[in-house]
Amino acid sequence: MSTWNIKTNTSDEETLAELIKEADAVVVGIGAGMSASDGFTYVGDRFKKNFPDFIEKYGFFDMLQASLFDFPTTEEYWAFQSRFVKLNYLDQPVGKSYTLLREMLEEKPYFVITTNADNAFYKADYNMDKVFYYQGEYALMQCSQFCHNDTYRDDEMMLKMVEQQEDMKVPYELIPFCPKCNAKMEINKRNAEKGMVESPHFFEQKERYETFLNEHQTGKVIYLEIGVGYTTPQFIKHPFWRFTRNNPDAKFVTMNQKAYRIPNDIKPHSITLTDDIQKTIVGANQILKEQNYVSN
Ligand SMILES: [Zn+2]
Repeated sequence: MSTWNIKTNTSDEETLAELIKEADAVVVGIGAGMSASDGFTYVGDRFKKNFPDFIEKYGFFDMLQASLFDFPTTEEYWAFQSRFVKLNYLDQPVGKSYTLLREMLEEKPYFVITTNADNAFYKADYNMDKVFYYQGEYALMQCSQFCHNDTYRDDEMMLKMVEQQEDMKVPYELIPFCPKCNAKMEINKRNAEKGMVESPHFFEQKERYETFLNEHQTGKVIYLEIGVGYTTPQFIKHPFWRFTRNNPDAKFVTMNQKAYRIPNDIKPHSITLTDDIQKTIVGANQILKEQNYVSN
């Protein structure tokens, strides 16, 4: 069994820096809290500014609730979704935490699994062979009847739907239909009842992720969970607990301002960092740069 030299009673940023430095490999699970920490929030001004008409009509609290709403017509569905895709994918700026985290991870073998469907990893220049989008991506479309397993992307059409919509309706001629069965298309995003279309691209990512996990079943592996809540614990949180249980040298590290309950047998192998996510990543990156561990 290996011993970790991590000091306790230091700041969250020092702890994160030390953990990354000492780890043999890092498996990162990223949830909505990480994007929110970089300002890509689903509530407040960002939502109100972009969807005042939908908020007025339906009284939505936040963008997630709105994005899952069963709109009465396809014209309205795409009026909402096209604006949502433009905001949270096509026009999404580079996130600071995403970039600085990547700089730190690049010094180690790493792999990322995410339940986010935004564009943050592409924008922050990640090697996409090391990222697994578990819940789909906003820019992708699927057949609403799941008649076949391909996903589609058409940014130009999406932007046309944003530009040409009126009174929360896109012109009928812009509405996408399945090329195989002619059913309506929809966003390739996993939901609780239906799941999602899992394309060959999805399975390639899944295979790379599983290969990485298999190659790092021993040694000082960190299962680093960032901004993962409790909406879908079966995708990141619970597997990370299981992996930690199976490797006595592993650490489960959770970064979230809200501390969730950790099972008793995992607790001795866990580290909980509750400081602001962006602040912690910025600080840890700074420490590792000062030590010349991460290049400037
Ligand atoms: Zn179809």
